[in-house]
Amino acid sequence: MANYDYIVIGGGSGGVATARRAAEYGAKVLLIEAQRLGGTCVNVGCVPKKLMWYAANIAHTLDTARHYGFGIHGHDFDWKRLKHDRDAYIRRLNDIYVTMLDKAGVTLVRGFARFVDSHTVAVDGQHYSAPHIVITTGGQPVLPAIPGAELGISSDGFFELEHQPQQVVVVGAGYIAVELAGVLRGLGSEVILVVRRDQAMRSLDALLRDELMTHLRDSGIHIVTHTQIAHVSLNPQGRLDISTTPDGVNLTADTLLWAIGRRANTDQLNLAAAGVNCETSGVIPVDEWQNTNISGIYAIGDIIGHHELTPVAIAAGRKLAARLFNQQSQSRLDYDNVPTVIFSHPPIGTVGLTEAQAREQYPDIKTYTTRFTALYHALSEHKPKTAMKLVCAGSEERVVGCHIIGEGADEMLQGFAVAIKMGACKNDFDDTVAIHPTSAEELVTLR
Ligand code: FAD
Ligand code: NDP
Repeated sequence: MANYDYIVIGGGSGGVATARRAAEYGAKVLLIEAQRLGGTCVNVGCVPKKLMWYAANIAHTLDTARHYGFGIHGHDFDWKRLKHDRDAYIRRLNDIYVTMLDKAGVTLVRGFARFVDSHTVAVDGQHYSAPHIVITTGGQPVLPAIPGAELGISSDGFFELEHQPQQVVVVGAGYIAVELAGVLRGLGSEVILVVRRDQAMRSLDALLRDELMTHLRDSGIHIVTHTQIAHVSLNPQGRLDISTTPDGVNLTADTLLWAIGRRANTDQLNLAAAGVNCETSGVIPVDEWQNTNISGIYAIGDIIGHHELTPVAIAAGRKLAARLFNQQSQSRLDYDNVPTVIFSHPPIGTVGLTEAQAREQYPDIKTYTTRFTALYHALSEHKPKTAMKLVCAGSEERVVGCHIIGEGADEMLQGFAVAIKMGACKNDFDDTVAIHPTSAEELVTLR
């Protein structure tokens, strides 16, 4: 039996961050990873997704270029080459992660970890023990329980596509459905987005939801609402026949992409041996300190079932390491005002409360909204709108929500998120001199 101070199960965003930080504080750390280091974000999430988003953005820029005097009419695009270069970049990142752990003095064991008891885990028959064990095993995409579902792919499968699909049905209404539908459409695929309710991204402020639906439709994505998939089969031409409910409409596509959520990776952990509680969804409940119900066992990242974002997993992991190994007894992640970006085209940036949430929490709410054509589109025939909303609470008009959709929203939000986290009020925004000409300046000149 090998003994450590800290065992980290899962080498994704949260696991690598907490392991390195704990080692920096002098702890003897073991990290166990079953697959590729970097986890979802590096291998089948944020990083390859953002590269694909850049590719689609470049396609949009090329379409706009003719309005700026460039003689560009149409363009070739080589999906296979992009995938090859993207995969090579990610393999380099995998190697960098190995080096980073090595330099930090973290021991890396490859394989699936299973609990033996509350202080011991086993990997391929070897036992490892520590007084502190953190579970950071993330999640994986789910497929629905309908006939033929396996003929479709998930986001993992999207990143394996060697050729660009021509006609794609994307099913789902969350981040992944919106982002991958946008990428595929931007790169020229025909895309049908099937949502089971009235809109996509229903957790967003109403302004963003409405604007997003307009942008998706304007980009040429055909959206089918109030619809679910009932059955999928392969037809003699090698294409997918996709029957829907309740209207029984049949769709045909060469690719079906499921983006209907993810399931926490707990099934193989043998949590029962350690007595760790887990919900039927696989999610491990934790308190505000990331403690599970068993003393000395913690959980961070996607496995806890909310705020499924890389920087959240990293921050929670670092805070936990500081609490356990650097005498910072009050160190914990504050989950309020976590900013997030949806990499749609154009992107969405949002932090804090939606207007509806704010109205439930505060008696006195004031909102400031603007909708305009960004200067970038001044010369184009098509004039997509940028929209912004500030949600302010109380007589001092503290900004409790900031919602942006438009070019640059992704890069714009981080600084505003700092101000909002610090408790900025509307007059602090007003007192800040604008940067001209930008879209961001609208947020400090709202009336
Ligand atoms: P993961 O990164 O999933 O890591 C878990 C690791 O645990 C995996 O490597 C897995 O192999 C390993 N593991 C599982 N079980 C075991 C076991 N029993 N033993 C050993 N190892 C095990 N977030 C953003 O902030 N921005 C984005 O733009 C963004 N884009 C995304 C795009 C997509 C398509 C997806 C799917 C996700 C995206 N996310 C994004 C979310 C982000 O990837 C996750 O929130 C983040 O990776 C969670 O980190 P984690 O450490 O909790 O888990
Ligand atoms: P989400 O939870 O974001 O969205 C899934 C949505 O699909 C649900 O909200 C639901 O919407 C819909 N849905 C659920 N079940 C079904 C079904 N059976 N049939 C049809 N639709 C269904 O999950 P994702 O997989 O898109 O993403 C997982 C998480 O990863 C995100 O929540 C986010 O935290 C993270 N992520 C972050 C990104 C970023 O930071 N840019 C990018 C990608 C992922 P409804 O109830 O409205 O129908």
